[in-house]
Amino acid sequence: MREKTNAHDTLPDSTVDLVLDPAARQALLDWYGREHRRLPWRAEPGGLAPAPYAVLVSELMLQQTRVDTVIEPYRRWMARWPTLHDLARADLQDVLAQWTGLGYYRRARHLHAAAVAALERHGELPNDPDLLRRLPGLGPYTVGAVRSIAFGEPEALVDGNVVRVLARWHAWTDAEPPTLSRTWKIARRLVSRPPASLDPSSWNQALMELGATVCTPRRPACLRCPVREPCRARQLGLAEAIPPTRVRAAVQEVQAVHALVWRAGPHGRQVLLGRRPATGRWAGLWEPPGAEGPDARATVAAWLAQNNLRESGQIDAFVHVLTHRRYQVSGVVVAAQATAPDPVALGYVEARWLPLAEVASPTSGMSRLAVRLCEGWSPQDLAR
Ligand code: SF4
Repeated sequence: MREKTNAHDTLPDSTVDLVLDPAARQALLDWYGREHRRLPWRAEPGGLAPAPYAVLVSELMLQQTRVDTVIEPYRRWMARWPTLHDLARADLQDVLAQWTGLGYYRRARHLHAAAVAALERHGELPNDPDLLRRLPGLGPYTVGAVRSIAFGEPEALVDGNVVRVLARWHAWTDAEPPTLSRTWKIARRLVSRPPASLDPSSWNQALMELGATVCTPRRPACLRCPVREPCRARQLGLAEAIPPTRVRAAVQEVQAVHALVWRAGPHGRQVLLGRRPATGRWAGLWEPPGAEGPDARATVAAWLAQNNLRESGQIDAFVHVLTHRRYQVSGVVVAAQATAPDPVALGYVEARWLPLAEVASPTSGMSRLAVRLCEGWSPQDLAR
């Protein structure tokens, strides 16, 4: 997409020093040293830098995902694949299964592909920005994170937190927010000047930490902010008005119906799962066979009839919300006959039986929606 130019792109280079002088920048670094959250992927300021691979894993997991959600999956991941070499040798299906609970599975594919490519091309994750950028799934943000946090290079990064913090420092109040290129320019100048340039890792993490814990989207805590004095938005009483609220894209309503086909297994009940194709939403993940759209119920009913199967119950319908979609999910319970029905007719690429007790396992390879479906299956349903 082509960047638009607006008035902010003509701001003079001196903007950085006007807004945040070296003393204020040092105050932010000092605050980060005292107040930062202790997280498993984070090194202490001034301590040994984390391995580039650990930074890559944590940064990809953290994209569009809350810190609290990432902590346990990150620990499990690093216990299973502690090095780039381990991940590059892993089976992609195992990698996707290990990503359960984090959503946006494309990131898991990119992480695996990046590990394979880095190992083949360089034998490790390189420091060179051009080489990093050529790895699958690594955009400017991730390159900035790896170079600054792992290699200590004065490389900028810009995420949603940094955009908000910089917009407030400068009191960018236009209805049209400053272009991303402008924000990157300011971030690059900041990280290349002392004291940030002396500890780029702490500087970049301080900016993001400020946005995540103090300069939050709603109700920024200006009273306990280490840079409240020079902040223009605070001076003008505009902190909460910046950046301007964007009109959200309309959320699409989707009907989804799934069949919970079960059979008795050696260690309890098992549920039939189909694996989704390698592209599209929830690519490569497992779920009870089903269909989406206004004809979903008829499609599933026809598939059951073709396989001489009859519903024995229903699970309570529920709503499952993604960023731009709102699923109305319902399920029918079906006891399997001697021959297992083949879900390929419904668009799945393969099938397997999974013990019901393992559905919620973090390595089941199922989407959150599919886990919820199975968890909504009550013992009374099973008894029918
Ligand atoms: S003073 Fe308020 S608006 Fe300014 S950076 Fe700090 S928290 Fe954000």
